[in-house]
Amino acid sequence: MNTGTTGTLYIVSAASGAGKTSLLRALMERDPKLVISVSHTTRSPRPGEQAGRDYHFVDESEFRRLIEVDAFLEHARVFDRRYGTTYAAVEADLAAGRDVLVEIDWQGARQIRERLAQTVSIFILPPSRDALEQRLRGRGQDSDEVIASRMAAAVDEMSHCGEYDYLVWNDDFDTALADLEAIIRVRRLRLAHQIGVSADALAALTGGAVGVR
Ligand code: 5GP
Repeated sequence: MNTGTTGTLYIVSAASGAGKTSLLRALMERDPKLVISVSHTTRSPRPGEQAGRDYHFVDESEFRRLIEVDAFLEHARVFDRRYGTTYAAVEADLAAGRDVLVEIDWQGARQIRERLAQTVSIFILPPSRDALEQRLRGRGQDSDEVIASRMAAAVDEMSHCGEYDYLVWNDDFDTALADLEAIIRVRRLRLAHQIGVSADALAALTGGAVGVR
């Protein structure tokens, strides 16, 4: 996979209830240069979800076929369903210089880090266990047993946050959003990135000392 002077692949993970989906939605609205990759999954669509926009919904045999033809950059079993990011979901955008977000679990994050050197990984955390439990309880329609099993899954996911480059605390929504934007902004200011996107300007300013590819 070519990741030369291309866009950056951002891996974003979180325990469910940490607010990841709303944060990423707001981030996408504010930054037109970001795209979010659409994963494949064997789970069924939830009300309001659209095939091709939220996920590519496929059955188990199609998912296995995609594994066999080596279509996946990463794939994993989460909550007893399969999820995966295909190369096709990220490659064209990265090659065109767009930054791509992949919203995946820790297992997929590990596989991508092993395959691609140039990734930035971010883990979004809730402010505390109590706050997370309150968010998971939502409207209070689920039994204590269901909540306890969601909490256990959340703690399991969060136990891998030490494998990520950045931790973003979602205590205050606007602060967390600004933190995500800061991570992306700093990345775009790196010399290696600037040489890729502003080579001509740099070469002109420095008499060719910097910026010649
Ligand atoms: P949901 O079914 O609620 O949309 O997602 C459940 C979990 O699957 C979330 O933790 C989400 O990050 C993870 N997930 C979604 N897409 C992918 C993917 O393509 N690969 C992996 N490894 N995990 C994914």
